Amino acid sequence: MLWPLAAILGLCLGSFLNVVIVRLPVMLMLGWRAEAREALELPEEASPRFNLLVPRSLCPQCETPIAWHDNLPVIGWLKRRGRCAACESRISPQYPLVELAGAGLALAVVALYGATWQGLFLYTACLALLALAVIDLRTQLLPDIATLPLLWAGLLYQLLFQPLMLHDAVIGAMAGYLALWSVYWLFKLVTGREGMGYGDFKLLAALGAWLGWQYLPLVLILSAGVGAIVGVVVQLALPRLRGAPMPFGPYLAMAGWIALLVGEPLMAFYLRLSGLQ
Ligand SMILES: [Zn+2]
Repeated sequence: MLWPLAAILGLCLGSFLNVVIVRLPVMLMLGWRAEAREALELPEEASPRFNLLVPRSLCPQCETPIAWHDNLPVIGWLKRRGRCAACESRISPQYPLVELAGAGLALAVVALYGATWQGLFLYTACLALLALAVIDLRTQLLPDIATLPLLWAGLLYQLLFQPLMLHDAVIGAMAGYLALWSVYWLFKLVTGREGMGYGDFKLLAALGAWLGWQYLPLVLILSAGVGAIVGVVVQLALPRLRGAPMPFGPYLAMAGWIALLVGEPLMAFYLRLSGLQ
């Protein structure tokens, strides 16, 4: 019973995550715009209500509301073959992919931790990383409103489930931030360009809190490895994307999943490999 339940719940949460991924950056932009107008003493703009619940799901092209049976996770997209029911314009494969990822992560957590509170915490972190990765891919933003709560939640996780790790987690959060902050400034001083954003520092700080400082080298190696593989694949398969800015957040998020879910065996392997143990 647990497995199908986890899969269905994962699909639905993935579906909700799609809404967050698409709307959160727009909500932030609208907020920043309103603040900027206020600072410049410009009159307020009248804008229609826009949040995670309002308006309901619309086709991004023709703005026809999407019927509930076309909005079912994965099935709705497959049924319409990735096209809008009204205007036939293409609907991004991001939607079913995020839903499948939500289900896949739910199954992985259930397999490794069962239906436990600890598993639920880890699953929440995995979903937050999924949302951050896709938001970064779409907009090159890693919003504070997601990275900072993820950091606090990591410290709370340690406090509740592994209080002996709290020390390592606090150091992990600080070291994670400082590690990429240093790389950023070094890169900027040498090349005069910005290699990554402040969101990346906060994301690695959050991973440091969830994993402890000992895992930071592993996370960086994993994200560089995944990044290198994706880079080569893009070079070979998608020449039109060559030279496009490549956000670092999705690689950090993927490395975060791996470290959160199978970090312990991987760490043992890594230490043996580097001759440290
Ligand atoms: Zn449409």
